[in-house]
Amino acid sequence: MAVPFRNVSKTRRDKRRTHYKITANSLVECTNCGAKIRPHRACPKCGFYKGADTLKEEVNKVNEEKKASKKVSKKSE
Ligand SMILES: [Zn+2]
Repeated sequence: MAVPFRNVSKTRRDKRRTHYKITANSLVECTNCGAKIRPHRACPKCGFYKGADTLKEEVNKVNEEKKASKKVSKKSE
């Protein structure tokens, strides 16, 4: 395994790290309630995602049925 020729000095290390910065989370408006939410996630306030309410029991039932059918089909293969 290759070994560094010499230690990186504290100064050199810290200079490298000056580029390490945290960035603010990007936010988009919920299409349903207009709240600022993170993109590609269900709205934490109203539960909408891609125009559908993810908190609705009907939607959840359908999704669970889909998951169940997938599991069954995988086992049978
Ligand atoms: Zn919302």
